[in-house]
Amino acid sequence: MARFVYADNAATTPVSEKVLQAMLPYFSQQYGNPSSLYSVGREAKKAVEQARETVARCLNAQPNEIFFTSGGSEADNWAIKGAAYEQAKRGKKHIITSKFEHHAVLHTVESLAKQGFSITYLDVHSDGLVRPEELEQAIREDTALVTIMYANNEIGTIQPVEELGAICKRRRVLFHTDAVQAVGNVPIDVEAQHIDLLSLTAHKLHGPKGAGALYVRRGVKLQNLVEGGAQERGRRAGTENTAGIVGLGAAMAMACDSIEQRAARLSKMRDRLIEGASKIDRAHLNGDPIHRLPGNVNMCFEGIEGESLLLMLDLKGICGSSGSACTSGSLDPSHVLLAIGLPHEIAHGSLRLSLSDQNSDEDVDYILEILPPIVERLRQMSPLWEKIVSENRPPYRLK
Ligand SMILES: *Cc1c(COP(=O)(O)O)cnc(C)c1O
Repeated sequence: MARFVYADNAATTPVSEKVLQAMLPYFSQQYGNPSSLYSVGREAKKAVEQARETVARCLNAQPNEIFFTSGGSEADNWAIKGAAYEQAKRGKKHIITSKFEHHAVLHTVESLAKQGFSITYLDVHSDGLVRPEELEQAIREDTALVTIMYANNEIGTIQPVEELGAICKRRRVLFHTDAVQAVGNVPIDVEAQHIDLLSLTAHKLHGPKGAGALYVRRGVKLQNLVEGGAQERGRRAGTENTAGIVGLGAAMAMACDSIEQRAARLSKMRDRLIEGASKIDRAHLNGDPIHRLPGNVNMCFEGIEGESLLLMLDLKGICGSSGSACTSGSLDPSHVLLAIGLPHEIAHGSLRLSLSDQNSDEDVDYILEILPPIVERLRQMSPLWEKIVSENRPPYRLK
């Protein structure tokens, strides 16, 4: 029987019913401008400040260290450009990042490179992890900022953030992490993990699109990215997206309060999916199986095209992804899979399935019923597969 299985939660998630209910009044009843002094304005302001407290609590931060933005991309841009321009005043124009960051980070550092900043890209090893000792070696006198993502959006690998943060603290370099995929999925503590700047967004944790935040450690100077009114204590202009901010707060509260139970349930489903799909001939898991987001499955199937696989899965009601949504439309394989050392040919056959707490064991059963015959059928039509078989090639091994 046909089902609909949404397994692309790393791209975005549906707004949960509870979050939606929390947001609704702020469109048409509590519509006041949070900067206005009369009561509908004050009510809106109160809601914004309550959301700020919730976000702060989830990260072990202070409310006055949380600044609302239009989402993860803006938070990344602000953290990186804001810190870089500030540090450049003191002659520090070197930035360290990694090769498998989200484009919101990679394209931002590339734009800074054109303005005379120098960029070091740390290698990502075949397990999908950066090595703290390589960060240590890359830091220079003129290093302004280190920006390394908390968890990768494609292969789900969770970086050794606390160790990276400790190195940056000891070497007195600012440490930013794009935690968009991690927030709500793994416990985060900006104090214990020595994080100076952290980006997050609501729509990856059952909140609305277009609402996010940047955590800025007290005392860290950032140049403004968005200039205008005095909102967000003069550091991020623009009338607050009240409903969006309320939605972010509600989503964070739900995600942070039940993090362990959800992670346990999700990782069980994830591991069953990985185990089942690994039975397919010449199937490979991408990224470390342990240091991994609880809902992330990313595999390559030799001899097929990820895009065709997605289309066939879609016909059966299954939504997944191949590479990231931002790169689809281009024929290049994902920069993340290339960064961990996969050859183009293998990287082209990738599939990411990302689960959330709205998925069920029946969803996993259904995927495991549908996926193997589809891979089989695509291989029968694939000249590449024919070549692999006729040459009697050994299965690919990641070095
Ligand atoms: C989705 C995502 C972003 C972008 O967030 P938006 O709110 O969509 O701008 C940035 N970084 C990572 C790791 C992401 O997964």
